Amino acid sequence: MEEIEDTEEIEVTEDNNLDLNVLLKSFNRLDNYVAKYIYNKYLKKDFESKSSDNNNDNDNYKQYLNTIFSLERPFIITQKECLEKDLENMEIADEQYDKDPKTFKARQFNSLPDIKRCSYIRKHKNKYKRCANGILDDDSDMCYKHIKSKNMYWDKYCEVLESLDL
Ligand SMILES: [Zn+2]
Repeated sequence: MEEIEDTEEIEVTEDNNLDLNVLLKSFNRLDNYVAKYIYNKYLKKDFESKSSDNNNDNDNYKQYLNTIFSLERPFIITQKECLEKDLENMEIADEQYDKDPKTFKARQFNSLPDIKRCSYIRKHKNKYKRCANGILDDDSDMCYKHIKSKNMYWDKYCEVLESLDL
C-alpha cells in the first residue's frame, strides 16, 4: 500500500485547502495590522479616557477588536472542525481500505485507515491532532518518527473526542 510521504508530518486533512488557508492568513494578518494602526492612531486615547481604571490597554484593544471583527473569522479553525474533518476522512479511508487494501491510495482520501495510521497525538496551535504518517510495521502503532515517543496527549485527545459529541 502507498504510504503518505514521510519527509515531515503532513497535515493531510488541510492539504486541499492549503492555498486558501495561506491566503486567508495573509488577509487576516493585514486586517490585524490595519486594525492596530487605526487603534493606535485614532482610538487609543478615547478608549483610555472612557474605560474603567482596571481596564488595561490590552483589554481595551481586545474590546475594540471584538467590535470590528466577528469572532468567527474564517482562518480560525476550531478543534471540532479539524477533528470532524479528520475523522470523516479516516472513516472513508477505512471503508476504501477494507474494500481493497492493495489498491488503496492514502492521498486520494487524505488519510490512512485507522489501523495503518500512527496513533501519536500532537498538540499544534492549541489543538490536538493525530499524526498522519503510516505505522512503522504491523506490530507497532506509531510511525518511524514517533516510535520512541511517549504519546502524552492521547488521553487529552480522547477527552476532547468525547466532549465534542461528534
Ligand atoms: Zn507519527
